[in-house]
Amino acid sequence: MFRPTDRYFQGRTAILATKHGKQQAIAPALARLGVTVVVASEFDSDCFGTFSREIPRCGTQEEAALAKAKAVLAQTGADLVLASEGSFGSHPQFPLLPSDRELVLLVDRRHDLVLRGEVLSLETNFNHATVSNLEEALAFAARVGFPEHGLIAMAQADPLPNTPIFKGIQSEEALQRAIATLQTNSPTIHLETDMRAHMNPTRMRVIAQAAAHLAEAMAQGCPQCGWPGFVACESVPGLPCELCGAPTAATKANRYRCQRCLYEQTVAVSETVAAASQCFFCNP
Ligand SMILES: [Zn+2]
Ligand SMILES: [Zn+2]
Repeated sequence: MFRPTDRYFQGRTAILATKHGKQQAIAPALARLGVTVVVASEFDSDCFGTFSREIPRCGTQEEAALAKAKAVLAQTGADLVLASEGSFGSHPQFPLLPSDRELVLLVDRRHDLVLRGEVLSLETNFNHATVSNLEEALAFAARVGFPEHGLIAMAQADPLPNTPIFKGIQSEEALQRAIATLQTNSPTIHLETDMRAHMNPTRMRVIAQAAAHLAEAMAQGCPQCGWPGFVACESVPGLPCELCGAPTAATKANRYRCQRCLYEQTVAVSETVAAASQCFFCNP
């Protein structure tokens, strides 16, 4: 049903603003569409807010990504720019579980087009703890994939200005040094997972999933106008129960919509029945 979109992106170069190695997660998916990803070397994305506290991020995740992309457009004169933003917190459906929402945005000035790839994943080590000695720190570290995943240490979760923040801790020696320094002023220490992409291979994998989702949007041209970004915008519930045939909450179709011409198409999922375990009557 999708029209090909090669003429939009094939052979182009997209500039990605990152100091944290995100190109390794994003470039492969775009390479399959003939797009080369180049890192904006002079660009300091940290001025748009950091996870490690020095600069608060303004606006929503989407606004932050768009602001970053626009700054790169202005600074480099490029016509194709990528920006990536992560957001961590409770999962909207499972509030007790931490989640990672990753957004990868593509801004195409030549075609006046913004496309997005997004993933909400329960796969994250996002976590924090208050510890009072190295033993407790190492126990926390062991739970969050240390030392492959980095840690951040500070005296308290809301550190006072001009107090030290130790970022990118990836060895027991570095952790020990950070704790020894912080303990001279504070009996307890706040530890948290370093969520910067180059310090967090789990996050890097979720960014790659968001990039794959973006590449899908780029490749799916609208059946009516041919414009890229013909993606599912909502799911239609009501897949019938395998036993009694009553409609369930399971998705029976996905509705696709074109951002440009607003053409819509509803496409049935490949399954024809839902498991009885999802049925309100058979499995109340
Ligand atoms: Zn269209
Ligand atoms: Zn049923």
